[in-house]
Amino acid sequence: MKYRSVAIDGPSGAGKSTISRTAAGRLGFVYVDTGALYRVIGLRCLETGLLDLEEIQLSMKFSGGEQRMFDGERDVTEDIRKHEVSKAASDCSALPEVRAFLLDLQRDLAKRQDVIMDGRDIGTVVLPDADLKIFLTASPEDRARRRVAQLSQSGDAPPYEQILQDIITRDHNDSTRKEAPLRQAPDAILLDTTGNTFQQSVGLIENLIREKLGV
Ligand code: C5P
Repeated sequence: MKYRSVAIDGPSGAGKSTISRTAAGRLGFVYVDTGALYRVIGLRCLETGLLDLEEIQLSMKFSGGEQRMFDGERDVTEDIRKHEVSKAASDCSALPEVRAFLLDLQRDLAKRQDVIMDGRDIGTVVLPDADLKIFLTASPEDRARRRVAQLSQSGDAPPYEQILQDIITRDHNDSTRKEAPLRQAPDAILLDTTGNTFQQSVGLIENLIREKLGV
């Protein structure tokens, strides 16, 4: 049986993960957050100062629509969300060996179930034959505001100006790197969520998926 796949790419903070998770829940798809994979590697580098991929026993478990991340026995789901891990993940993700290490894992996930997979290179590299590709973006200022709100819930929010600057730097790093840079696939639908409410964005994505995949 061939499973269906939706690729959602775009810059950090465009709302990809919350929007994709909600849409996946409504449509009965499994939501796969690929940024979390890069974050586990980033966390490891940050804590050990080393990039030893053979030492990393990366796994993910899905329960009740939630994706929990493990490095060996350790549940790192919360730790990988810390602000400093974002930069470490972005740095590691520029390395070809890191991207190659994660490629098969991501493709395997899409072979086993209907997925909405979000990341930076899902439509261009990981799932070039995805049934639907969406490139989700929003202005850097809008994304920084959302990120501040998100981080302040966990009590770990740097000032808005710093977040905005980090977003601009990460966008630049992600889109200018040699390996699998962040860019819109030619056959992806562009969706700019600047000024949208969360519900509006979810509704738009849900409709696109229903229309294109006949779900
Ligand atoms: O999406 P998130 O911000 O959690 O991703 C963390 C970092 O991982 C990003 O800054 C990006 O550099 C990298 N990433 C990537 N390719 C993906 C997903 C994430 O390079 N498919």
